[in-house]
Parts: sequence; C-alpha cells; structure tokens
Amino acid sequence: MTRTDHVGNGAGKVYLLGAGPGDPELLTLKAVRALARADVVLIDDLVNRAVLEHVRPQARIVEVGKRGGCKSTPQAFIQKLMLRLARSGRVVARVKGGDPFVFGRGGEELEALRAAGVDCEVINGITAGIAAPAALGIPVTHRDYAVGVTFVTGHTKSGGGPNWQALAATGTTLVIYMGIANLAGICGDLLAAGMRADMPAAAIQSGTCEEQREVVATLGLLHRMVVAAGLSSPAIVVIGEVARLAHGAKGEIDASLRAA
Ligand code: SAH
Repeated sequence: MTRTDHVGNGAGKVYLLGAGPGDPELLTLKAVRALARADVVLIDDLVNRAVLEHVRPQARIVEVGKRGGCKSTPQAFIQKLMLRLARSGRVVARVKGGDPFVFGRGGEELEALRAAGVDCEVINGITAGIAAPAALGIPVTHRDYAVGVTFVTGHTKSGGGPNWQALAATGTTLVIYMGIANLAGICGDLLAAGMRADMPAAAIQSGTCEEQREVVATLGLLHRMVVAAGLSSPAIVVIGEVARLAHGAKGEIDASLRAA
C-alpha cells in the first residue's frame, strides 16, 4: 500500500526537483523516480515538457511559469498551492529548470515549506551555467585558464546588479544567468573595469536543447554579435579564457578580433 494509492490520506511531501538544462536525458534517476511518484506536478516554463513522460497518467500537471516579462504565476500563489497540496496528503513534484537552488527560488520555497512543517526533499539538477558551456566544449574551471568560476545573475531583484568591477578582478570564469537583456551594460562595465576587449566570451541560448544557438566572440564584440544573431533568453553568458575552448572558437574569436 503506497501513499499514492491513497491520495488525500497521510502526510504529503514536496520534491523540489531540478530537471536539468533542457536535454531530457540530463534528468537524474532520483528526479525520474520522484516524477513517477507525484500526484501533482508544478512545472516551470523553462522545463522541457519531455520530462512529463515520467509522470503517471493520472497525475495533475500545473503550469506555473514566471519568465520575466510574460504572464506569470505569482510566487506567493505557488507557495500557497504547494502547501495546500502537501497538507492534503498529495505528493508534489515542484519541477524547475536546471538546479532548484541556482537562481531558481528553490531556497525561498524550501524555507516556506519547512516553516510550515511540510516534508520536503531537494533533488539537484544539472545547472545551465555548467551544462550550456559544456555543450560547446567549454570547461568552466579548466585549470590552465581559470582559478574557479563565479555564477552570477545579470538581473537582480533590486535592479542594482552585481559589482562587475570586483568580479572582473577575480580571475574566475564569469558565468552569467539572465544576462541577455542587460548584456550591453554588463560588457561595458567589465571593459570599464579593465577587462581586456579580446577576452574570449560566449553566449548560449537554449543550451543542450535541440534549438540551441550560440555566439562565440570576444568581450568587446559579444553584445553586437548577440544582437546580430538575434539570440534571446534563456541564455548563459560565459566570459573568460575558457571560452577559447568552445568548438571551433578560434576562428570566430580571431574574426571578432579583426572586426574590432
Ligand atoms: N535554476 C536554473 C536557472 C534559473 S534562472 C539552473 O540551474 O539552470 C533562468 C536562467 O537560467 C535563464 O535566464 C538563463 O540565463 C539560464 N538558463 C536556463 N536554462 C538554460 C539553457 N538551457 N540554456 C541557456 N541558459 C539557460
């Protein structure tokens, strides 16, 4: 007798689950097992719908998109819904793109669930900031080129933005989430902070997905080339020597140096 045979009885549970960057084969085995157990699936709009293949036919699927600028489900509503479902004994899979704790508000949701005494389990996913560069062959911490990697958002809650000047001085690869809308400002700030205009850089839209598109350039030309290529969100921006290792990047970087 399993809990899912008796929806509404017993204690519910929430899986805060990362679905990975897009390629449905990058789901973890744990994620697959939790999806197969769920009574209700709350799914973010960045998540590849192919993951729903693992969900039971009788499970309820709720779309809770919140992509910037589009019609969205308020965070407070999502949290209330999760609480209500778990309290009524449902097993809930809260499915997010990438990893639930990397720029995914998983932290806020976990706090709210814990405060309410709801059983909650975090299931990691592969974050886009590693997977999208890797899809081009960029190893974000290659020891010949970087002392580490910094994951940073190009779009902050306050609108203030990170301290690009300090980041430029770290010697780490910069991996920027949600950086496309403000790319001109970000590149300008990094250049103003003294980062070389010929620093290799890449932008990868829909990394690991069938519709993946990318631009490999130099910092000085990245914004212009991203605009010319029409790249848009969701995209990861990588700035650092490691971007030199993108497949076939040498030609593109040389060409952008000539164009600069
Ligand atoms: N939790 C997610 C990130 C959520 S924030 C993770 O760990 O990956 C949303 C941002 O992630 C997007 O604006 C974009 O910058 C990035 N992103 C998510 N999926 C992506 C993908 N397949 N390719 C490129 N960027 C992606």
